[in-house]
Amino acid sequence: MLTDCRECKTRFRADKLEYPKEYDSAEAAIATHAIACPNCGSKDLTEPRPFLTMLRTRLGAAADEEDYLSLAYLRPETAQGIFINFLLVQQAMRRKLPFGIAQIGKAFRNEVTPGNFVLRTREFEQMELEYFVKPGEDEGVLDEWVERYLDWYTGYGLSRDNLRLVEVEERERAHYSRRTVDVYYRFFPERDTEEKQWEELMGIAHRSDYDLKSHSKNPADDEGKRLNPDSTEDLSYFDDPTKQRFYPYVIEPSAGVNRSVLAFLMDAYTERTNDKGEKRVILKLHPELAPIKVAVLPLARNKPEIVALAQRIKRDLQPSMRAVYDDTGGIGKLYARQDEIGTPACVTVDHQSLEDEAVTVRDRDTWEQERVPVAELLEHLKKRLGVRC
Ligand code: ATP
Repeated sequence: MLTDCRECKTRFRADKLEYPKEYDSAEAAIATHAIACPNCGSKDLTEPRPFLTMLRTRLGAAADEEDYLSLAYLRPETAQGIFINFLLVQQAMRRKLPFGIAQIGKAFRNEVTPGNFVLRTREFEQMELEYFVKPGEDEGVLDEWVERYLDWYTGYGLSRDNLRLVEVEERERAHYSRRTVDVYYRFFPERDTEEKQWEELMGIAHRSDYDLKSHSKNPADDEGKRLNPDSTEDLSYFDDPTKQRFYPYVIEPSAGVNRSVLAFLMDAYTERTNDKGEKRVILKLHPELAPIKVAVLPLARNKPEIVALAQRIKRDLQPSMRAVYDDTGGIGKLYARQDEIGTPACVTVDHQSLEDEAVTVRDRDTWEQERVPVAELLEHLKKRLGVRC
């Protein structure tokens, strides 16, 4: 439901507005002018109206405005493709419960208030996992996934202090959800109140058997209503050991790629002052997230032997890890550039290298330097970065 402020003309999703506790819903509070516009403070909000959050389009060469057959909707989540293919994947891959199917891809939503950097855009990237379990064996599974995702996010550099879990209240949950835990990230540390600093990073929902049933031809919901009269398929699962047929429950971790990347960037961002008193930016990205793993830099770009050796080293590293060569500045500037884009290691080739076949490896985070023989460089870097090659 959507409401507009008559005063400042800002549009809001009614379910996102905070309302006094004595009301059951934001809509009820709006009706008695009990909610102030978050933008201008006016209490004159319009009666909430339904808003289509799916993006509608028309497909086909003959598409005209009246032809309902040409009407199409862009997916608002990646999940449904997984549900429709559930049996196909289970049978082709010979899986037994419990198992999961993961997918990453674009999703589209007709957001009422897009904005806030990349936090709310109409086109975004999702990574979703549908984890299928036998009903009755779902106890505790959601909490396990919450822990795994916390480990995953902190393992790639997010500070646990910047992550918060929120048990979503029933009235806030999607209609299919039995339980949802949202993971919030402190995207706005500069905001004055603690409450305003957080925004959702991902959610983990217990979707019960709602989706598989909804896509199937036979079953009715708990009240006996046929969910999908158009379906020609049945997505129930046959459990061989017990000879039972049933619709598995689903635990779904659903994460936004854009929001996750922003969070990783924010946690990685640090500043440091060098010995000349200049402020430097260092992006302390986890090596696996760093787009470039190593930069090979010649100390003197006018010395052909040094340039040739540096370029050879870069070429030799390239099949194993993303390496770049750069000679477009003095060494201080080259280091600073790599620090800023998060390159975990720099390799410098100098005059000495021509004699001793060794190079200097410089660490992004400590700025410490170490001399390493060229013959051992690849192994040294693999160990140092812990990068899966
Ligand atoms: P919100 O309450 O912020 O609108 P949601 O609860 O509707 O989010 P989900 O349906 O749970 O979001 O989607 C899973 C994840 O996809 C979210 O946690 C978020 O990271 C991401 N996401 C959802 N909508 C957007 C959007 N418009 N732009 C960018 N990322 C989004």
